[in-house]
Amino acid sequence: MSGERVRVERELCIGAAQCVRIAPRAFRLDADRIAVVADASAATDEELELAERRCPSGAVFLPDRD
Ligand code: SF4
Repeated sequence: MSGERVRVERELCIGAAQCVRIAPRAFRLDADRIAVVADASAATDEELELAERRCPSGAVFLPDRD
């Protein structure tokens, strides 16, 4: 366990914002339109898993689960 529920790999993110649509309080796009984790505790496990699955570039990782 890393203690980190979710991580966005900046180099992979293409700013498609699927994660933001799925969990708008957990993710946001920064000034470069790259996703950052705003508040991981604001999303359920299911929402984080959906964000991981729906991210078109595979940029969302769930370290505690992997
Ligand atoms: S869904 Fe993936 S590519 Fe789109 S903003 Fe989120 S992390 Fe980036």
